[in-house]
Amino acid sequence: MVTKMGEVLNVEKIFGEKVFTVAKMKERLPKKVFQEVKKVMDQGGELSMATADIVAKAMKDWAVENGATHYTHWFQPLTGITAEKHDSFVSHPDVDGRMLMEFSGKELIKGEPDASSFPSGGLRATFEARGYTAWDITSPAFLKESGCGTILCIPTAFCSYTGEALDKKTPLLRSMEALSEQALRIVKLFGDQEATKVTASVGPEQEYFLVDKDLYMQRKDLMFAGRTLFGAPAPKGQEMEDHYFGVIKERVGNYMKDLNVELWKLGVTAKTQHNEVAPAQHELAPIYETANIAVDHNQLVMEAMKRVAYKHDLRCLLHEKPYAGVNGSGKHNNWSIITDNGVNLLEPGDTPNKNIRFLLVLACIMKAVDTHADLLRQSASDVGNDHRLGANEAPPAIISIFLGDQLEDVVRQLVETGDAEKVKQGGKLETGVSTLPDFEKDATDRNRTSPFAFTGNKFEFRTVGSADSIASPNTTLNAIVAESFCEAADILEKSADNFDMAVHDLIKKYMTQHQRIVFNGDGYSDEWVAEAKRRGLPNIKSMIEAAATLTTDKSVALFGKFGIFTKAELESREEIIYETYAKTINIEALTMIDMAGKDIIPAVASYEGGLASTILSIKEAGAKATAQIELLQEVDTLLAEAKKALNTLKEVEAQASSMQDVKAQAFYYKDTVKVAMDALRAPIDKLEMIVDGTVWPIPTYGDLMFEV
Ligand code: ADP
Ligand code: MG
Repeated sequence: MVTKMGEVLNVEKIFGEKVFTVAKMKERLPKKVFQEVKKVMDQGGELSMATADIVAKAMKDWAVENGATHYTHWFQPLTGITAEKHDSFVSHPDVDGRMLMEFSGKELIKGEPDASSFPSGGLRATFEARGYTAWDITSPAFLKESGCGTILCIPTAFCSYTGEALDKKTPLLRSMEALSEQALRIVKLFGDQEATKVTASVGPEQEYFLVDKDLYMQRKDLMFAGRTLFGAPAPKGQEMEDHYFGVIKERVGNYMKDLNVELWKLGVTAKTQHNEVAPAQHELAPIYETANIAVDHNQLVMEAMKRVAYKHDLRCLLHEKPYAGVNGSGKHNNWSIITDNGVNLLEPGDTPNKNIRFLLVLACIMKAVDTHADLLRQSASDVGNDHRLGANEAPPAIISIFLGDQLEDVVRQLVETGDAEKVKQGGKLETGVSTLPDFEKDATDRNRTSPFAFTGNKFEFRTVGSADSIASPNTTLNAIVAESFCEAADILEKSADNFDMAVHDLIKKYMTQHQRIVFNGDGYSDEWVAEAKRRGLPNIKSMIEAAATLTTDKSVALFGKFGIFTKAELESREEIIYETYAKTINIEALTMIDMAGKDIIPAVASYEGGLASTILSIKEAGAKATAQIELLQEVDTLLAEAKKALNTLKEVEAQASSMQDVKAQAFYYKDTVKVAMDALRAPIDKLEMIVDGTVWPIPTYGDLMFEV
């Protein structure tokens, strides 16, 4: 739907309109059935088939009343996006030929999509195609409207016939349970007997680019690879810093308005919108919620961003680096841990130095992040993100924690003396204008360069890529923190009579051992790279180098201990990373070969021909044609260089495609094919700067970024 200017929107009314919310269930289900469903939602367990039948019927009736014809088990295979196969509610007609729309409890709870064409990393041979989807009762069903009509989407987890996870959701749910169980032990040690569950809460800030549809359609690289593979810088980039938080253009504003409406109807709390740093780059942030719902909703946000763009003759680019030379896009994953009686374990209060539970949680997180910095970095890697991490704009690939002045000082005191007597306070911010109020300042400034920053009562994991699912980063975060909570609880539960002393010693021990992970300075500086090396922190440069961290003994032990991944599941995921990487770079290389060979080189060759004829005529007419000759020589040299680079790229690409071993192949793509791609891009970008603009066959960076 496209809203009109001035139209009054009743946001309270439309919010959640397309969601089968708990409130709707309560309204439509018999009381006992509703109670059973709520119990399973809150505490786990299984619905009886009789109950499932009643829930399915209520869900179907609601969906059909709202126009649905089909349902789907909506799942998140290892492609990083979502998948769906639609089945209509149509059932077998009775003897009189009448048909009733039907949906059973069995169909609600379990689906059986053919799993053979999803990435499985060798977990399953193609002939063993069986896979199952299972309803995730904790994430609400919703209606999706598209060209297909209205579809009831049931969020599900996806497993193989032998029970291995083939998706991103199953491990996430497993990690949430592990974190809850271990965090509860910590909470209980501090005397809270009321809490029954602890949830990871997540708020992802999503960055994206918009581009005009017609221009997009003229760029094969955007169409096939989602990013530009050629392109000289426009005369203006982001250097004026006038786009960040700038006035939103009409067309973009209309897009944002419709996007919000779509998301609100889907129960997504779209909250903040603004222009980002690069031209044509924007951001949307929802309000945080339970991790698995946040993961589902972030998928819906990404989908809606693309779908709504179509309605506005725009295209939405979620790639981490659509354009060279300006900022790329990421996803800041805000994460905290909150008990079901409303206590945020990351809330330091005014005097964090006296908040022992907070200090223990912080110490455990320092330990977790330091011990598994490699895994955390891995969890945020995807092919596009290799262009961001460490490329001097996004967080570096080195994982460190930013605590801010106040907490860093508390940690320092604890490490040095075992006690933190003092705490820095923010003080007053004096505006110096009598009509403006003075503020209480935060105790800590921000640091945009840190990959993992404490921001008040949450950690902001900034390394995540804009196109990626946030399931893996949150699975890893939950798992590593569950592990250190578990170890701390093991120690502290044994020292119940001497608790104060034991907890004090443990905080000091963890903070001392893991202080090296704390870094408050400039994460983009070369000094930090050297300093991090001295501290022994890993600096893993690429997605495929990070892949092997999944299958180290340390990783297998961690994920195995909490039943999040088996060794086989981890091995399969490592393999999928190599496959995905190789396939993606292969597409990029083929696209470059196509564009250079069929469009750009022929256009430049014909331009050169015209130039040569002009020179001949000018000379015939008695002039020297000095400038034209100089230009001709420049063009000729660069064109020859481009042609040679194209030949090389074709050769190495053919070599790469023929390789059998996926890991070796992935590394060959990174070390050889990508190098050949860069070698082809360089002369072509130079040609773009000197060739007559009217003969250049594709829209330029200026067109793409400024014509939105
Ligand atoms: P900041 O300006 O510090 O980045 P915002 O208030 O803009 O913070 O929030 C950014 C994101 O963090 C939003 O999605 C917000 O809902 C989320 N967020 C806020 N508090 C929490 C929390 N306790 N746990 C998880 N996410 C949170
Ligand atoms: Mg933020």
